[in-house]
Amino acid sequence: MALAPTSTVTTGVRKKRVMAGMRPTGKLHVGHLLGALQNFVALSREAECFYEVADLHALTTKFDRSSEIADDIREMVIDWLAAGVDPQACTIYVQSRIPEISEMVVLLSMMTPVSWLERVPTYKEQIVELGPEIATHGFLGYPVLQAVDIAIVRGEGVPVGRDQLPHLELTREIVRRFNHLYGPVLVEPSPILSNTPLVPGADGRKMSKSYDNSILLADSEQITTEKVRRMFTDPTKIHKNDPGHPETCPVFFFHEAFNAVAADGIAHRCRAGLLGCVENKADMAKHLNAALAPFRERRRRLEASPSIVDEILDEGSKRARDVARQTLDGVRAAMGLSGSSARRQAV
Ligand code: SF4
Repeated sequence: MALAPTSTVTTGVRKKRVMAGMRPTGKLHVGHLLGALQNFVALSREAECFYEVADLHALTTKFDRSSEIADDIREMVIDWLAAGVDPQACTIYVQSRIPEISEMVVLLSMMTPVSWLERVPTYKEQIVELGPEIATHGFLGYPVLQAVDIAIVRGEGVPVGRDQLPHLELTREIVRRFNHLYGPVLVEPSPILSNTPLVPGADGRKMSKSYDNSILLADSEQITTEKVRRMFTDPTKIHKNDPGHPETCPVFFFHEAFNAVAADGIAHRCRAGLLGCVENKADMAKHLNAALAPFRERRRRLEASPSIVDEILDEGSKRARDVARQTLDGVRAAMGLSGSSARRQAV
């Protein structure tokens, strides 16, 4: 039995269904805004989007601090909403509140060869980086969980950067294997390649909370200005008159992102030794703070009304679960397992 994607019909044309997820890590930073959230907002204008708070994935590295995850979810979802992700235009839901996901992981695990999981490029790298204690059964199997996340809502498109293509390819392989064994039940998703910029942190490395180099979206104006003041610049530009290399300077990256109209002029003055880093950082902080001001205001309002987040997650999880139930019923039927979800619940 093939389960066609069921999505809203607008002006006679069915919107493509898009699935994306994010592991809850608490408050997000400017890199998340430029790399993912702006894309979430844009995609939900043109597609039927399912945005998952991937709290089961968070357990792969936080199984020993699981009580922190509820707060991490709240902070992250507040940032999503404050960044403009509109719950009326997409479905926002919590992974662990869809028990069908866990059941389908068991079913798909039975037909996924371990060798496919072991060859995932990040598997061995992350064990080296994070230590052998994360080498759990769940961590090895996280690509199956990822495949189910997409397949269970019948996602047709998944926004990914080039570096994530191997992960999506594994999802496609798992889906193809299932469909080959049991019939064309699952939708094989395609990548929606996004030009995710590599956002530099205050020390010039990739912006990441684990490097402690982030500008958080929730940071105040004063904290943001101070972080920018201490930001790395082109190390060859010591004095104001030294010619600089803006293309290697994190400060210039943020001018391009938040002060684009002036970027060419800034680059020219930097290269010509007509601009000092102290002055340029103060100017960048001003533009970054101006861009983040509406976000901070929306964040303040959401923090003051915690029930809004609860309601959005309740509603979205209910909607996602309805879709997940249908998919799981199709999967079980194709495999010859007994009982629809309604019948199983009656037992
Ligand atoms: S003048 Fe500005 S762009 Fe040039 S190196 Fe200094 S901070 Fe970077």
